[in-house]
Amino acid sequence: MCIFCMIAEGKIPSHKIYEDDLCLAFLDLSQANIGHTLIVPKKHFDNIISLDNDLAGHLFSVTSKLTKAISKALGVNDFNILNNCGEVAGQSVHHFHIHIIPRKLNDNIKIELSSNKLTDEEFINLKNLLIENI
Ligand code: 5GP
Ligand code: ZN
Repeated sequence: MCIFCMIAEGKIPSHKIYEDDLCLAFLDLSQANIGHTLIVPKKHFDNIISLDNDLAGHLFSVTSKLTKAISKALGVNDFNILNNCGEVAGQSVHHFHIHIIPRKLNDNIKIELSSNKLTDEEFINLKNLLIENI
């Protein structure tokens, strides 16, 4: 059984801040910033690719609610809402989870995106390929 399944079943302790029938939220053991919170479904899904779409909607609704609560409680208005899918993308616990990470000026967290330039034709081909698969 994975570590987040064990937390969901109360087999190992966590600092839980929210729970409903489908999910729970608890403080990340490693606080990237104070208030760093994880939202996890109670049922095990490895990642967003296997995650049920309706459950994904519920988890994002809870993420929105908790981000507002964390903002109010800690007086923070800047956040990264993050999901790592797969090891290459930095996922270390293979039970789907969403990070809420409060941000502060000069907090030393770096999330940098590179910028690939595409031609118009490449954009159109890419767009069509994606649409065909939705
Ligand atoms: P990932 O790298 O998979 O996106 O994020 C996994 C997160 O889970 C990490 O930020 C890590 O600190 C956190 N984590 C790992 N094990 C535990 C645990 O046992 N309890 C809590 N509260 N957080 C954990
Ligand atoms: Zn699990």
